[in-house]
Amino acid sequence: MSVISDRLNRARETADADSVDAILLTPGPDLRYLTGYDALPLERLTCLVLPVNDDPKLVVPSLERPAAEASGIHNELEIVDWQETDDPIALVAKMLPDARRIAIGDKMWAAKVLGFRDALPHVEQVLAGPILAELRMRKSPDEVEYLREAAEAIDRVHARMAEWLRAGRTEHDVARDIAAAIVEEGHATADFVIVAAGPNSASPHHDPDESVIADGDPVVVDIGGTTSAGYCSDSTRTYVAGEPPSEFAKAYDVLLRAQMTACEHVRAGVPAESVDAAARDVLTEAGLGEYFIHRIGHGIGMEVHEEPYIVSGNTLPLEAGMAFSVEPGFYLAGKYGARIEDIVVVTDDGVDRLNQRPRELAIL
Ligand code: ZN
Ligand code: ZN
Ligand code: ZN
Repeated sequence: MSVISDRLNRARETADADSVDAILLTPGPDLRYLTGYDALPLERLTCLVLPVNDDPKLVVPSLERPAAEASGIHNELEIVDWQETDDPIALVAKMLPDARRIAIGDKMWAAKVLGFRDALPHVEQVLAGPILAELRMRKSPDEVEYLREAAEAIDRVHARMAEWLRAGRTEHDVARDIAAAIVEEGHATADFVIVAAGPNSASPHHDPDESVIADGDPVVVDIGGTTSAGYCSDSTRTYVAGEPPSEFAKAYDVLLRAQMTACEHVRAGVPAESVDAAARDVLTEAGLGEYFIHRIGHGIGMEVHEEPYIVSGNTLPLEAGMAFSVEPGFYLAGKYGARIEDIVVVTDDGVDRLNQRPRELAIL
């Protein structure tokens, strides 16, 4: 059985168990995961119609049939195209005469969701996200290798940081060089580049600006892209241009210990939230707990943030194949911040760390 038909079948079984009669997915990572088709999200309706008890169909605007066929999807399921003046929502509705409960892709545009609600007024709409998460959360060995390739590519970018990052340059200039390198080193796209120097490093999602990196500034560099296979990288290292303030270096040592402790804690069977607690306890003991202001991590795969979220309150037991970030940090407003981030995969007997760059404070 092909990977695609296996995934379609598992999606159906999961939907059936949730008493869902059909899944509707428009372009996005869920559609790409289930069908291999990386379609553009546009105003014209492209929609996978996946009934639990009938054959799947891909509804596409006729002008996009060639693009859909280029993905090979027509070997897996029937493509039904619609002409420019047809009503594609009505076309989909007609395919679901007996449906009572349909699952809609989490990120479907509201205009389409409401269109389906009007066309199928007696059908209950639920989110397809939890159904797809059940599948996407546990990576196959092939997917783990795709994530490893992505991690190796982003590691090569971090390895080159001394080419770009030095006192006197702006965050923005450094970020532009990094973005080019993300593509050079093996990604199809550079998706995000955080370069946060000095006091800006206290903002976890700082957008690089014209701030000039000063001697002794800690610089948080959090970067990622998507490979041609569709898998994401995401890794953070903290650099210092020159000598860091000594209290910063001390705090960083605690962070390093926290990150290592959390990674070593990862194994099948432990609750997701316990990985967060493992790092938080180390930081809290050293008086830094209040400055660790975000969850420790997020799942990663075809999206940079996906299930499982590694956060207090998530008691989900980790399982082999789950891939997620371990990224504790501390952020002191007006002063400085730091973060260390690796992607890890749960294995049968422990953990596989996909990012391999040194985690010590990197003095450039
Ligand atoms: Zn983040
Ligand atoms: Zn990151
Ligand atoms: Zn992350």
